[in-house]
Amino acid sequence: MSLYASRLNQMERMRALIAEALGRASQKPGESLRAVSLVVYGNVPDTMLYDLFEQAIADTPALGASLKIERAGSRYICWNCCGVRFESASGMCPNCGELGMEVPDEIEFGLKRIETG
Ligand SMILES: [Zn+2]
Repeated sequence: MSLYASRLNQMERMRALIAEALGRASQKPGESLRAVSLVVYGNVPDTMLYDLFEQAIADTPALGASLKIERAGSRYICWNCCGVRFESASGMCPNCGELGMEVPDEIEFGLKRIETG
């Protein structure tokens, strides 16, 4: 996958996460989205995440929210356990002890939690 295509995918992913965060924030009437925490896998640089975040919240009700980045170990999928996902340094499934398959690079971050107020 080219760098350009990868970047587009990450932008789409970030926009989807912001939409999800706004959806969660809308469950709390009268409050607005203050912060979005992402869990980040692999080696995506912070600067790129802040950049994607700023672009994704422009012209949305999320404008002004802050980004919090939480680093995780590599993420794996265990097919032995019906596709269960887990984070690990070694890649060993916590359920069955089999070696999991590392999640592809393009799935590098996900929504962890939001803060409203
Ligand atoms: Zn397993």
